Amino acid sequence: MVKERARILVVGGGYVGMYTALRLQRKLKGELRRGEAEITVVTPDPYMTYQPFLPEAAAGSLSPRHVVVPLRRVLDRCRVLIGEATAVDHAARTATVTTLATEEEGTGARRLAYDEIVLAPGSVARTLPVPGLAEHGIGFKTVEEAIGLRNHVIEQMDIASSTRDPALRDAALTFVFVGGGYAGVEALGELEDMARQAARSYHNVGRDDMKWILVEAAGRVLPEVGEELGRHTVTELRRRNIDVRLRTRLESCADRVAVLSDGTRFPTRTVVWTAGVKPHPLLAATDLPRTPRGRLKCTPELSVEGAPHAWAAGDAAAVPDVTAEAPGAECAPNAQHAVRQARVLGDNIAHALRGEPLTTYAHRHAGSVASLGFHQGVAHVRGRKVKGYPAWVLHRAYHLSRLPTANRKARVLAEWTLSGFFAREIVSLGSLEHPRAEFELAAGGKPPEEPPRNPKGSS
Ligand SMILES: Cc1cc2nc3c(=O)[nH]c(=O)nc-3n(C[C@H](O)[C@H](O)[C@H](O)COP(=O)(O)OP(=O)(O)OC[C@H]3O[C@@H](n4cnc5c(N)ncnc54)[C@H](O)[C@@H]3O)c2cc1C
Repeated sequence: MVKERARILVVGGGYVGMYTALRLQRKLKGELRRGEAEITVVTPDPYMTYQPFLPEAAAGSLSPRHVVVPLRRVLDRCRVLIGEATAVDHAARTATVTTLATEEEGTGARRLAYDEIVLAPGSVARTLPVPGLAEHGIGFKTVEEAIGLRNHVIEQMDIASSTRDPALRDAALTFVFVGGGYAGVEALGELEDMARQAARSYHNVGRDDMKWILVEAAGRVLPEVGEELGRHTVTELRRRNIDVRLRTRLESCADRVAVLSDGTRFPTRTVVWTAGVKPHPLLAATDLPRTPRGRLKCTPELSVEGAPHAWAAGDAAAVPDVTAEAPGAECAPNAQHAVRQARVLGDNIAHALRGEPLTTYAHRHAGSVASLGFHQGVAHVRGRKVKGYPAWVLHRAYHLSRLPTANRKARVLAEWTLSGFFAREIVSLGSLEHPRAEFELAAGGKPPEEPPRNPKGSS
């Protein structure tokens, strides 16, 4: 039984937000039933995205609907509010929130009062002032971006197949990825694999006509899997004719020409930016303490330092890594920590409300798995290094086990099983991104001149 009625506000419906709310609705079942507690989740989308499956969604191995979890269905004892927190005044225990309705009504943002707040807005792409990036760059963090990129790649192959202009054809078939972490390597590995398979269906686009380039500022890729497997990844990608450029930066992509720091220039219509993340800008609009890198300063119990009733975890939080030998180490921003921290966080809020002692978050990094395309992968698990097909199987098995809900697991497993019998469907449904275009034309309106860069769409 909690001491008084507790209004718990969870900001963010990703890994931390969803798993914390799930834990809380289980731990506070009685309190929720008796009206002694209420949980509100504020998040811009009505679903949680399982980000490690975005590369497979982009490649068409998984349907977009199966890599997301509908929040209203799993959080059936919480209030899910679709909107964005724009500021938090913890001293006054209020969060400023905009929703679709506040936009429609023109009433301005709402202020939500809370007793406990969980800040889990995650991170955003870390961009640099590279000329042309804001106009031409494509991110890879959301399901819309993954599907938009898939449609875009297939569309470039269609452009190349139908043009008589060799310069346009060359630019359409040049794909530049910037950043050699999980997102960049997996997205490139899966999409190159898909494009290679797609090329078989074109009469005049072959796999050797395409240029796939990975640009990485450091001297290695995939730091998460260790040095040896990082080197293996580079060798494997180069074996597939992917141009991996280490210690190289993108200096400009203005006028659709990618200019690299080694002096090379690639006319291209595709620059995918996956060069790391930074904490969400919402954190700067709070009165809570942050580290110089912008994450919220947290205790090992996942409360925000010096701010009772404020909690945080995941990419937005600097949580001390109590298992590390080096003093001052923080938990890395990854899903492995986010999921585990969310469980401890949910438990600790319930403990705090009941006046019970809190649990310390301690998790030693268990290893990492990464897919490099169909039947290719690398894995570093509990000191063991695995490559190729076994690593790819490990990658799939691990992520399947982590995917929330039995329903999602069954759907993903069914799709993988089917793909063992039938080739994946390779079709660009880019027109889904402009569903009114044909009707507008028929009704005498003007068709859109330039498609938006990363519109929402699905295939
Ligand atoms: C392509 C890709 C592949 C990855 N692969 C791996 C992997 O293989 N292994 C691994 O460990 N990690 C991987 N990661 C990293 C992992 O996904 C993140 O570390 C994890 O999602 C962090 O969880 P989080 O809850 O902090 O943030 P998120 O899961 O990003 O959730 C943040 C949530 O907050 C919401 N939000 C944003 N702004 C607001 C606002 N103003 N108000 C309210 N809500 C807001 C967002 O919409 C989102 O729902 C990958 C990431 C990407 C992009």
